[in-house]
Amino acid sequence: MELILLGPPGAGKGTQSKLLETRYGVAQISTGDMLRAEVKAGSPIGLEAKTVMDAGGLVSDDILVRMIGERIHRPDCAKGFILDGFPRTVPQAEALDRMLHDTAVDLDAVIELKVDEAVLVERISGRFTCGKCGTGYHDKFKLPKKAGICDACGGTEFIRRPDDKAETVHARLEAYNVQTAPILPYYKAQGRLYAVDGMAEMNEVEAQIEAVLRKIGVPPV
Ligand code: AMP
Repeated sequence: MELILLGPPGAGKGTQSKLLETRYGVAQISTGDMLRAEVKAGSPIGLEAKTVMDAGGLVSDDILVRMIGERIHRPDCAKGFILDGFPRTVPQAEALDRMLHDTAVDLDAVIELKVDEAVLVERISGRFTCGKCGTGYHDKFKLPKKAGICDACGGTEFIRRPDDKAETVHARLEAYNVQTAPILPYYKAQGRLYAVDGMAEMNEVEAQIEAVLRKIGVPPV
């Protein structure tokens, strides 16, 4: 299965793609996670990307296209992948089409998580993750059961993304509206675009995505 999840920051792409990864036996590819790993490693790509990411802008298409071109050929993608955060511009979508065409792979669907922009700032600026296992939490919607201790692994260090600050979230939403939203008509014209209600409960969103996948003939493993 080759699937793209699209939607503004905070729409739930990361949460849903992790759930689907297990259900469908494919690799979840988050370009945001890949870039954050480069920043952490202090690599040349990371150094270039950090300033742009901290400001809520988009890293250059060249870098992203090269990263994805290499990533989708790794062995864990043998049964397919879910892209979370890529493509984010029309040139990235066009480059992906060329890559898939070259390997005779067909994109199954592009699923848009539709959300009300007003809730996104609250959703994003309250989120944090366990530094050890990556489990996600939220100041208002999902605190650890025991304060300061991760429910999943007992870890006590938590991380907040520097670009999840309210000021930066506005820039990220602007980047989505101006640079990423034009991808929607691009995939609509290909007949691959489906929308689900990203405002629904997490399990309901997952059920809606699975219903789309069933409809187009992609069963879970
Ligand atoms: P995310 O974790 O998907 O919210 O991505 C975090 C940040 O990484 C974004 O705000 C961008 O600065 C950068 N980024 C991630 N994916 C892309 C992409 N496909 N194109 C350009 N920049 C990206």
